[in-house]
Order: sequence, then C-alpha cells, then structure tokens
Amino acid sequence: MKEYDLMVIGAGPGGYRAASYAAAKGLKVVIFEASQLGGTCLNEGCIPTKCYARNAEVMSLMKEAEAFGISNNGFDFHLEIAKSRKDEVLQQLRSGIETLLPHPNITLVRAEARFLDAHTVEACPIGCDSVTPSLDSYTAPSIIIATGSIPKKLHLEAPADGLFLDSRDLLQLNRQPQSLCIIGAGVIGMEFASIFNAFGTQITVVEFLKECLPALDSDIAKRLRKVLEKRGVTFHLQSAVTGIKSEEGAKIVTFTDKKGREQTVEAEQVLMAVGRAPRIFNHFQNAGFDYDARTGIKVDDHFETTVKGIYAIGDCNGRQMLAHAAEWQAKTVVDRIANPHLLSEDLEKDTIAIPAAIFTAPEAACVGKSEDQLKQEDIAYECRKAFYRANGKALAMNETEGMVKLLSKPDAGRIVGCHAYGAHAADLVQEVTALMSCNTTVAQLRDIVHIHPTLSEILLAAAEA
Ligand code: FAD
Repeated sequence: MKEYDLMVIGAGPGGYRAASYAAAKGLKVVIFEASQLGGTCLNEGCIPTKCYARNAEVMSLMKEAEAFGISNNGFDFHLEIAKSRKDEVLQQLRSGIETLLPHPNITLVRAEARFLDAHTVEACPIGCDSVTPSLDSYTAPSIIIATGSIPKKLHLEAPADGLFLDSRDLLQLNRQPQSLCIIGAGVIGMEFASIFNAFGTQITVVEFLKECLPALDSDIAKRLRKVLEKRGVTFHLQSAVTGIKSEEGAKIVTFTDKKGREQTVEAEQVLMAVGRAPRIFNHFQNAGFDYDARTGIKVDDHFETTVKGIYAIGDCNGRQMLAHAAEWQAKTVVDRIANPHLLSEDLEKDTIAIPAAIFTAPEAACVGKSEDQLKQEDIAYECRKAFYRANGKALAMNETEGMVKLLSKPDAGRIVGCHAYGAHAADLVQEVTALMSCNTTVAQLRDIVHIHPTLSEILLAAAEA
C-alpha cells in the first residue's frame, strides 16, 4: 500500500490545480487520471470551443470588411483546417500541464481510481472492468474527488442513440454540416449555435424553456437571442423534443411546440446540448459518502462530503459547472487540508463572486444576482444600464450591439450583480467581479478613473446613469 498526504482523483482544472497547489504547500500528493490531462475543459470544453469561437469571429469580421473600406471578394472556410489549429492549441496546453505536474511532491498515476474503502483507492488499468486486477493500492488521510461531468441526453420515446452528437462529437467533425438542429439553448447550445452560424451552417434551436440561457438576466438573454435570430438562427422556445429519426440520410427531430402542435426539423446533424451530469461511479458506495446520479456528490460549504476527509470539487459536486469555479474550490479545499487548525471563518469569505461567460458573438457574461433574482427574493435594489452604441470605442470597433446592467443596493450602494452582453462583455464583468470582491459601491465605482477610449467606460456610464 502506497501512502500519501493527499489523493486527487481526476486531472481536470479542479484536480490538477488541487495537486499543484497542495504540492507547493509541501504535501505529498498522488493524482490519478484515466484519460487526457486537462479534463473536459482543455480537451472537449472551454478551450476547443474558444478556438472555434475565434474562427467564427474572424469570419464575421471578414463578412463586414467592406464597412471598413476593405474589398472582400469572398472566401472559403475549411473546418478540417480549423480543427487542426484547435488540436494544435490543445496539444500545446496539454504539454504545459505535463511540465507543471512533475513536481517532486506529485506522483501522477495514469489509471482509473476506484474506492475500496473511505481511505483506500486502487488504481486500475484504463478501460478496466470490475474483474480486472488492480495495479496498486494507495492511502491518504485526505482525498479530493474531481471526476468532472458527462453530457446528459433526453430520454425519448424511441431510442435515438447514434442519431445525435454531443459536444465532444461535434468538435471532432472534419466536415461542416449544411444544417444543424441544436436541442437545448443553454451555454453549450448557444455557443455552438453562434459558432456554426458564423461558419455558414443553417441552425435551428429547440428549447424547452421560455427563454435561452436561464442563468442569465432574462432581459440580456432575450436581446442576445434576437441578435442570433437576426443572423438567421431559428429558435423554437417552449418546445419539447419527442423524437429523432433518420430518413434518407437526414435526421428528423420531432417536437411539440408552445401551442401543443407537433412539428419537425430536418437537419444533417443534431446536437444534444441539454446540460451535463456529475460523473459518479458505483464504487463511490465503498467510501460511504452520499451522492446522487442527478445532483452529484453531496458536499457542505467547505466541499467536504458526508465522510470526513473526503472532498468533492468541480463539476462532480454539481454546484457551478465552470472551470474557474473548480479551480477556486480546489484552492479552498487545499487551504483547509494544509491548515487544519485554521478556524472556518479564517478560510471563508462572504464576498466570493463567481463570474460566468457565454462566448457567443457577441459575448454575454454575468456575476452576482440578476434583476429577476432580486425581484423574486424581494430585495431592494437599483438597476443602472448603459449601452455600447453610446461608447466611443464600441463605435470605432463597429461593435455597437450590447448593454451593461449594473445592480446595486439602494442609494448607489454595494454592487450586487452585473449582467452584460456585447463585445468583450466577459472582461467588463471581470472588473465588476474584482469590485464585488472588495465590497465596492456604485458611488465608489464612479470615482475610479477608466482609460479613454475603452469599452470599460460603459461600466462607468452605467454607474453614472
Ligand atoms: P473535468 O474537467 O471534467 O475533469 C475530470 C477529469 O477526471 C477527467 O480528465 C477524467 O478523465 C478524470 N477522471 C474521472 N474519473 C476518474 C477516475 N475514476 N480515475 C481517474 N481519473 C478520472 N467552463 C468554463 O469555465 N468556461 C468555458 O468557456 C467552458 N466551456 C465549456 C464548453 C463545453 C463544450 C463544455 C462541455 C464545458 C465547458 N466548460 C466551460 C465547463 C468546464 O469544462 C468544466 O466546468 C470543467 O472542466 C470542470 O472541471 P473538473 O476538474 O471538475 O472536471
């Protein structure tokens, strides 16, 4: 039995951040990875989608070149070349992690980790089944589970496996589909709708809810949907998909629309983007902590499971399925493991604001509460808005579509949220995240000098509104 201070299961953003941070603090760490280093984020999530989002941005700029006085006699797009560029970026970043992990305090085990009991994990060869003998067993007083998540799929009346793609499959296509039906208008569905629309694919989105992007302020979500509609994306909202079948090489998606009528969409490819489920395993039972296939591993506010010394971070605890949330949770847990004598209060911050972004064109981003939430929770607030079309830099960039909504306590008080869409909205929201982490008020924001001309002046304009 090999002994360590800390075992980490999974080398995605949560796991590798936990391992490297713990090693730097002097802990002896073993980290298990059953697939590629970097997890979902690097290999099939954040980074590959943002490579394609950049392709989409370049194409959109080329389409509007004439507005800048540049003659454009047309261009061709080759998905297979965009895919090679994306794969090179992923390889480069994976090599970066490979050089980060070989720390004297870190042992990387390329195997699937399985719990034997609450403090023992066995390493099994990748792709092993329940009868395959294990390679070795490991023990540690502290364990961090960072096993991530997997794509969800709808349970349809007739089995449809093989008739749709998930986000991983779509990123592997070498040939651009003529048409794509996207089931689900959440973050993943909307990013792919924006990207493939720019590539020239005919996009139809079928969404069960009343509006796209339910986590975003509904005002902003609606405006963003309208931008995509203007670009030719068709949305069917309040529509429930009932089946997918194949007919003469095409896929037919059947759904019930908001008036209860049965409708169909024909497309070359179908993307199932109905969310992600925490990745859990049957062997978790051997460790004895509580978990649920739908909601993930149950954790307290310190990300500790119902078994002392076992923590679950990132997508597998189902809290916030974002790479930077996984990294923040990793740091929080390692601080706790490395300093067991610190009081909870010393590790807690009541001002943690976790921002999120949707990399459509234009981008959307948010931090803190939305106006809808403030209304629902009956919290007194002030809402200030500013628009991209009134900002000098946005006009110079020809990026006039967008809005920033700044939410605060009354009398220009503490900022409690910011929701925005428009060029570089994620960067604007990042500034608000920093301000919220320091409990800044709108009145104080008005006194912060912003570089002219920048998009960040839109934030200042919102504060002054
Ligand atoms: P993961 O990254 O999923 O890593 C888990 C790792 O654990 C995997 O490598 C897996 O092989 C390994 N593993 C699992 N079980 C075992 C085991 N038993 N033994 C050994 N290894 C195991 N987030 C953002 O913040 N920004 C974005 O722009 C963004 N875009 C996204 C786009 C798409 C299409 C998708 C699908 C996701 C996106 N995300 C984005 C979400 C982000 O990828 C996840 O939130 C993040 O990867 C979660 O990190 P994690 O460490 O919890 O898990």
